[in-house]
Amino acid sequence: MKQIQHWIDGSLTAGASSRVGPVFNPATGEQTGQVALANSDDVDTAVRSAREAFDSWRNSSLTKRQNIMFAFREIMAARSQEMAETLTSEHGKTVDDALGEVQRGIEVVEFACNIAHLLKGDFSEQVSTGVDTYSIRQPLGVVAGITPFNFPTMVPMWMYPIAIACGNTFVLKPSEKDPSTSLLAAEMLSEAGLPDGVFNVVHGDKESVDALITHPDVAAISFVGSTPIARHIYETGTQNGKRVQALGGAKNHMIVLPDADMDLAADAAVSAGYGSAGERCMAISAVVAVGEAGDRLIEDVQTRIEKLTVGPGDQPGVEMGPLVTSQHLDRVRGYVDSGEEQGALLVADGRDFVVDGYEDGYFFGPTLFDNVTTDMSIYTDEIFGPVLSTVRLEHFEEAIQLINENPYGNGTAVFTNDGGAARKFQNEIQVGMVGINVPIPVPLSFYSFGGWKDSIFGSHAIYGPEGVHFYTRQKVVISRWPDPIHRGVDLGFPTHG
Ligand code: NAD
Repeated sequence: MKQIQHWIDGSLTAGASSRVGPVFNPATGEQTGQVALANSDDVDTAVRSAREAFDSWRNSSLTKRQNIMFAFREIMAARSQEMAETLTSEHGKTVDDALGEVQRGIEVVEFACNIAHLLKGDFSEQVSTGVDTYSIRQPLGVVAGITPFNFPTMVPMWMYPIAIACGNTFVLKPSEKDPSTSLLAAEMLSEAGLPDGVFNVVHGDKESVDALITHPDVAAISFVGSTPIARHIYETGTQNGKRVQALGGAKNHMIVLPDADMDLAADAAVSAGYGSAGERCMAISAVVAVGEAGDRLIEDVQTRIEKLTVGPGDQPGVEMGPLVTSQHLDRVRGYVDSGEEQGALLVADGRDFVVDGYEDGYFFGPTLFDNVTTDMSIYTDEIFGPVLSTVRLEHFEEAIQLINENPYGNGTAVFTNDGGAARKFQNEIQVGMVGINVPIPVPLSFYSFGGWKDSIFGSHAIYGPEGVHFYTRQKVVISRWPDPIHRGVDLGFPTHG
């Protein structure tokens, strides 16, 4: 069985803790690995390594930092198939989907290759006689990243390329459910020329996370995961004096208006609802059908569901893989049971889905509910599985209000051919990322990613320009060089002149 170790100070280490966790292949249900679970001593070792690397890394030239990112980009692109296959073997998503994830991660590295442009400060000459003022942006120190299972390659890459290019050093605590791709990334960064200690990986669960978010030498924390944990990280991290961005869970709605292109809307609902088995923070989980859109939409979605190929993610032609763990499979099944008990109409039922030859895999078929109401747990909770709930409403205004009243605000979409309706939606909706005839509005790397409300804690979105701001702090310098009008001691408050 594969032993998955930490990566500290440029090499693999088993660490001091004897605790380990199982890693499974979700398509077969077989345990394939054992991951080390760090204790506070292991976390301390990683943070110390990062702290020691910081002084020289922060003073390395911008050109050197960018060149390492260029080299890393090339290595990752060349090895993306290997990365994707490793990812699929622990997460379950299809290799094509995993390749897409790797590509979106690479795009953040490409952004970091040109980071110098965003690290430029401002300069004001002669703010007072003989006095200039300028601002510079400096790295924070050791930054920690704590990431979820659902994008084991990409979500860490939302963080470390930018943090490192800004001159910080990094300790990553990836999900213990699919930890291996982080080690591949560590190896690639090292091959790209990154000095030892600048990027470290500690595996673990709550014990390691709590050690990281309270460690006195950790300056900032980037977290992505579920809302209750995001809240815990934000509260504990900030109480311990750290800068924190904590991105949480989601319940993403897609409104379909009667004038929408129904083929486009049905394709979008199926792609965004069942892609990656619904285990995406930007997955659509509630379709809000307005007026007469509902009947046609349900029929079109159902027809498409019947044609989906579900199976092991590494098999050609498979469009949807298994769920990540057997516990998660049970949880999703429980939601479908309660949806039915609470009176929703179960149009497609994925509970008894079995893939021949993979009877122990964590497969769940695409599931569709109609007539869902807002008091049902399939509506209120983030299911994180291939379950699409349809809510029917009479008016567009009610649909907007429904979304605005939801505690989450990650992503949303409207499908319509009416520009005025789309503009109203974009203007009024209380959600951070908005799609107009686009179901999964994930911004490219030169924008920033972040929801609103319970989908984010902290004031910075992730990657892009907001990432640069998060991983640096501003210093303002006011400088005067000796000049003929030096006036001696003056206890008055400095004014211009
Ligand atoms: P999770 O919250 O269970 O775990 C995230 C991380 O926190 C993992 O590294 C895990 O080890 C750690 N963790 C888990 N329990 C902990 C605890 N009690 N104390 C301290 N640390 C703990 O999330 P997950 O199941 O891995 O991922 C799915 C969730 O992530 C979904 O809610 C999804 O919406 C969310 N997500 C959000 C975004 C976003 O950008 N907003 C992106 C991806 C995933």
